[in-house]
Amino acid sequence: MKTIDHWINGTATTAGSTRTAPVYDPAAGKARAEVLLAEPSDVDTAVAAAGKAFESWGDSSLSQRTRVMFAFRELLVKHEDELARIISSEHGKVLDDARGEIVRGREIVEYACGIADALKGGFSDQVSRDVDVHDFRQPLGVVAGITPFNFPIMVPLWMHPIAIATGNTFVLKPSERVPSASRLVAELYAEAGLPDGVFNVVNGDKVAVDAILEHPGVSAVSFVGSTPIAKYVHERATATGKRVQALGGAKNHAVVLPDADLEYAANHLTAAAFGSAGQRCMAISIGVAVGSAGDGLIEILKRKAAEIKVGPGHDAGNDMGPVVTEAARQRVIDSVALGAEQGATVVVDGRELRVAGHEGGFFVGPSLLDNVTTGMSAYRDEIFGPVLGIVRVDTLDEAIALINANPYGNGAAVFTGSGEAARRFQREVKVGMIGVNVPIPVPMSYYSFGGWKDSLIGDSPIHGPAGVRFYTRAKVVTTRWPHSAGPGASGFNFPTSS
Ligand code: NAD
Repeated sequence: MKTIDHWINGTATTAGSTRTAPVYDPAAGKARAEVLLAEPSDVDTAVAAAGKAFESWGDSSLSQRTRVMFAFRELLVKHEDELARIISSEHGKVLDDARGEIVRGREIVEYACGIADALKGGFSDQVSRDVDVHDFRQPLGVVAGITPFNFPIMVPLWMHPIAIATGNTFVLKPSERVPSASRLVAELYAEAGLPDGVFNVVNGDKVAVDAILEHPGVSAVSFVGSTPIAKYVHERATATGKRVQALGGAKNHAVVLPDADLEYAANHLTAAAFGSAGQRCMAISIGVAVGSAGDGLIEILKRKAAEIKVGPGHDAGNDMGPVVTEAARQRVIDSVALGAEQGATVVVDGRELRVAGHEGGFFVGPSLLDNVTTGMSAYRDEIFGPVLGIVRVDTLDEAIALINANPYGNGAAVFTGSGEAARRFQREVKVGMIGVNVPIPVPMSYYSFGGWKDSLIGDSPIHGPAGVRFYTRAKVVTTRWPHSAGPGASGFNFPTSS
């Protein structure tokens, strides 16, 4: 069986690792490879290589860094099919969806191609007599990324292109369930001309994560994953003096008002709830039907859920692949059962779905639960599978209050024909990313991505301008070039302008 190794200092290596974990093909339900699990000494080796590389990369010109990013971007285009196949075979998502995440991730690289503009500082002429002030930003040093399984390439791409383009060196610890995409990315960076040691991939589990969090050579940690681990990472890494961005889980609501085009809303809700088998941090897991929208919405959602083709991600024509593990499949099945027990109406039941020829795969069909209430587990827990719960309320006020009382605050959407309602919604909901008639409002690369409340621990969103700020720190320089005529006056008072 193939062993997926690490990439340290420009070379594939097993370093000192001996432990392994299986990497599954979720459509077959069988291990397709094994991945090495790093020991703390392997993290040391990677951080040392990145630290050495920083000595020159941190001092490299903007032109050099930009050239590498342009070349890397072209290689991501060239290898799109190969990357999509890798993602689909380890995650399970359909190929078109895998291509979608590659394109959205590539947009971050395109932003990084323009890093010279994003890094421009300010200059103030003659702030005092013969005195000018300017500021500029410098990289932090060695920074690390720890990423989840559900976007094997896009989420790491939220981090490393910006970190590297701003002059840092990077150690990535991808999810051990989907390690292969990042290993290929390391080779593409090398082909793009990135010097050895600037981008390193260390595969592993909690042992590697803890070694990164404790490592004195790591200046900053970017984390994306579930909320409990985001809280843990934030606490540990700040305790060891690192800068941290930590994005967590979600329970995203889509509110459908009676004046919405119900067919349009249901179409988008279906795709946003069941696409990628519901394993997206921006998936819609709760629909909030306001007033008379409820019955009509349920009827259309029921029809659309029945039309979804479930099967292996690599077969064109399927809309939805398997979930990532057998444990995830069981969690989805249990959540639907518990929903029914707690009083929800199971309108569409995906628990019994079997895909012919793929009986061992981790498949579960779409489920639609009506009459969900806030006390139910189906409402409170992040199921992270193809389950859409519908909560019925009477007014927009109630819908907004519901969202604001939820501990998560990643995304929220409203479907309406009313500009007034949409404006109120976007101003009053306490979430970070809002869609108006758009179900999955993932910001473009030149904005930043981040939720509120339990969906983002700490205060730094990711990529875009916030990413540039996160991976750099500012210096402000006050300059005077004395006239050759004399030294000029100096005093013991605190300096003021003259
Ligand atoms: P996860 O939290 O289990 O794992 C994320 C990373 O943390 C992995 O690299 C994993 O190896 C590591 N990890 C896991 N357990 C650990 C532990 N006990 N100690 C230290 N490290 C540990 O998340 P996942 O299941 O891979 O991904 C799904 C979750 O990620 C969902 O909750 C989803 O909402 C969230 N997510 C959030 C965003 C966002 O932008 N907010 C984006 C994608 C995914």
